[in-house]
Amino acid sequence: MTAQILDGKALAAKVRGEIKSQVEVWLKEGRVEPRLDVIIVGDDPASQVYVAQKEKMAKEVGFEGHLHRLPGDATEEVIAARIAALNDNVRVNGILLQLPLPKHLSSDALIARIDPNKDVDGLSEINLGKLFAGNGTLIPCTPKGCMRLIQETGVSLAGKRALVVGRSRLVGKPIGALLLDANATVTMAHSKTTHLQDEVNQSDILVAAVGIPNMIKGEWIKPGAVVIDVGINRMPDGKLVGDVETHEAEKNAAFITPVPGGVGPMTIAMLLENTLVSYRVLHKV
Ligand code: NDP
Repeated sequence: MTAQILDGKALAAKVRGEIKSQVEVWLKEGRVEPRLDVIIVGDDPASQVYVAQKEKMAKEVGFEGHLHRLPGDATEEVIAARIAALNDNVRVNGILLQLPLPKHLSSDALIARIDPNKDVDGLSEINLGKLFAGNGTLIPCTPKGCMRLIQETGVSLAGKRALVVGRSRLVGKPIGALLLDANATVTMAHSKTTHLQDEVNQSDILVAAVGIPNMIKGEWIKPGAVVIDVGINRMPDGKLVGDVETHEAEKNAAFITPVPGGVGPMTIAMLLENTLVSYRVLHKV
């Protein structure tokens, strides 16, 4: 078996096209454009690249995009004041605080200050709570993108064994909740899990979100499985690889996401889609 590649880049482009069309309709109706504000603190190089991509894509779909650059030594009070101003600004639909923050800041405390209706990353306790209660509206972008990629396969999740490797608040836990809502039988694995190989080998759906290059071996994959590789790991030669040994996994899997070009582009597309969700709520359209 040779796996079909799940092209996240192409799917993300399709989603962005749909968003752009919706924005054009709203503008023709005389409405204002959706507005996304991104706050970046400090000069972490990877974060700089991510926010530049987010700003570019937001503008491409017709949003108004604003980037707020704060110095790496900014205090929690300064960032909280910026968030409060954006919460109060009726023109702003989405607020994203780029993570990770410098070590002296608490991301949980600052995320909690974002108006839940504008929390387009979906990471506040209120939005995560709604998701775990089965009423999610603003769903974290990477997990939402993973689900969209799984939907693309046409594989029904009901009754399937799904394994999520990684249990972070950002990725693993919300994906687990979404897979459960879709009626999969979900197992969550983490650093203390024993016999990971056996768990992988029994799973129809595998979502890997760990951050260790090629840690999941191709020969572990159950024949016919759907493999979603969230991991992004930079190798010494500069190449990006995922958490799954892709070339070997392709021999067993039915579907697999590449790294790069799989989950990454979908994460940004889902951020734009969440901004649209927030716009609909705030403008009642
Ligand atoms: P975290 O470091 O927050 O979480 C990693 C998880 O992996 C933890 O739950 C940890 O377990 C688990 N883990 C660590 N070692 C092992 C092991 N040996 N076996 C099984 N589980 C293990 O990472 P994130 O969730 O934030 O990110 C995960 C990966 O996804 C990273 O590579 C990141 O770059 C990438 N990423 C990609 C995105 C995209 O858009 N494509 C977006 C966000 C992240 P424990 O809880 O026990 O410590």
